[in-house]
Amino acid sequence: MPRPIEALIHPQNLAHNLARARASAPDARVWAVVKANAYGHGIERAYPGLRGADGFALLDLDEAQRLRALDWRGPILLLEGCFEPRDLELCSRLNLWHAVHCEQQIDWLAMHKTHQPHRVFLKMNSGMNRLGFTPSAFRAAWTRLNVLPQVDEISLMTHFSDADAQRLGADGIAHQVAAFVAATEDLPGERSLSNSAATLRHSQSPAVRADWVRSGIMSYGGSPDYPEHSAAHWGLKPGMTLRSRLIATQHLQPGDTVGYGSSFRAEAKMRIGIVACGYADGYPRHCPSGTPILVEGQRTQTVGRVSMDMLAVDLTTMPSAQIGSEVTLWGEGPRGTRLSIDEVAHAGGTIGWELMTAVTQRVPVTVQAHE
Ligand SMILES: *Cc1c(COP(=O)(O)O)cnc(C)c1O
Repeated sequence: MPRPIEALIHPQNLAHNLARARASAPDARVWAVVKANAYGHGIERAYPGLRGADGFALLDLDEAQRLRALDWRGPILLLEGCFEPRDLELCSRLNLWHAVHCEQQIDWLAMHKTHQPHRVFLKMNSGMNRLGFTPSAFRAAWTRLNVLPQVDEISLMTHFSDADAQRLGADGIAHQVAAFVAATEDLPGERSLSNSAATLRHSQSPAVRADWVRSGIMSYGGSPDYPEHSAAHWGLKPGMTLRSRLIATQHLQPGDTVGYGSSFRAEAKMRIGIVACGYADGYPRHCPSGTPILVEGQRTQTVGRVSMDMLAVDLTTMPSAQIGSEVTLWGEGPRGTRLSIDEVAHAGGTIGWELMTAVTQRVPVTVQAHE
């Protein structure tokens, strides 16, 4: 029998979450963001759940090729654009739309030989200070692109740094929306501003939902603004379950410790279970004692340090738990139970995005069959 850990992908939940993105921005089109191998879910595995999107947005050219290999004929957007001039050849061949965020990418386009003009998304740096032209340089970049025979339509995009929260005491996006709107006012073209957080929190504003929203974490059932709002609050369902089983149990006496570093010490008699899951599976080592976890669908907590291949759980209140009992690290448990990835990430001082994309190669992945 293989080691009893697995990741289970839920295509129906992905489709449900995508519908939530659509409902939040009803007059906009929706990019399903599938970078990082569909946030760790696997592009091919996620595709049946996300194919209702209007387009797919990603970073890697090989991921774009994999989508075309799945026979996706619709829009594909390279969010970081091209990394070197010859990437443009693949864009021409596979009809990939691509971001243009710097002068050099315009230089490459100007030298590119193609019969098929490209659809580009000109990116503004409206305050994130990662990629894009500053508002004052944006129009000149647009004008440069606009005269190139290699360029077909120019769309306009930007990205928010604080869509999930307040910034300096105010709504986290207002300053960026204002910068974007002012610098693009009389430019033609479709617009895309919102990630998941902006789509859920700010899409009542037409300028924010614009023509395309970019649904990343919410498609996979993660809340973009946990702990302020949970996935359940936003009506999202887990895209992925990480589950395993108990492979041992131990009875502890008062004063006994658990695991490396003896970081947990029993105060009273207790029973614990050992779960076949550790940091080499992608479960965060930073999750302290007390991190929520489900055993047979019942909520309990971890005890002691997470080790490479195992972690321990408190079974004091669950006498029926035994070797073979099902353990849900995050996602959907038995009988409709659920543990949000955000809660686990939060306990470990990180975010759901990181956990989903960090499940390791050795974890077998299966796709939940249609019910
Ligand atoms: C990753 C990414 C997104 C999606 O962000 P989420 O917060 O996961 O929704 C949107 N836009 C760009 C440019 C991105 O890189």
